[in-house]
Amino acid sequence: MTLPRGFKTQAERIAEELRARVGATNSKPLNLTAVAEQLDVQVISAADLVPLERLQEIERIQTYAFSACTFEINERHVIVFNPLMSAGRQASDIAHELAHIILDHELAEIQYLDGVPFRTCQPGQEEEATALGGTLLLPRKLLLQHAREDAAIEQIARKFGVTRKMAQYRWNTTGVERQVARERSRRNAQR
Ligand SMILES: [Zn+2]
Repeated sequence: MTLPRGFKTQAERIAEELRARVGATNSKPLNLTAVAEQLDVQVISAADLVPLERLQEIERIQTYAFSACTFEINERHVIVFNPLMSAGRQASDIAHELAHIILDHELAEIQYLDGVPFRTCQPGQEEEATALGGTLLLPRKLLLQHAREDAAIEQIARKFGVTRKMAQYRWNTTGVERQVARERSRRNAQR
């Protein structure tokens, strides 16, 4: 599956605009609660709906069976996340769900969590949500700044409260390392 042409640029623009609205900076983790509020989306822990023991049981039966999902109550989007995930993983999951809402994706299939129906998106839209979610957490400009400062992936992950996997994914897809290498070789050539 490939992203539609121009999607990455569009995602960067959306992220920049939304991040500005919540006063996000390139030195602190994005406040996802503030982003959700801006979008009039409610974010709740699954432990508020289902007993924690039941969540642990679901997790035991199938690891990562449930990360986060979105449903609609009285025309308002509600994102339910799994509190058993690491904080970094929760950030990826919530950002992914917010991205579905921003992109106005159709919530199609129905999934059940302990008898509670949740609608999930079509597979074709998953990649877009992952790409935009990642862009919200780590926009290209932020990564470029850190690449110029020789920051390591691990450092970026820690600084912005995301998983190493997310930091690596954004690092690779934005190509910031290549850009910095080109900038440096050009500078050296001028000397
Ligand atoms: Zn999704």
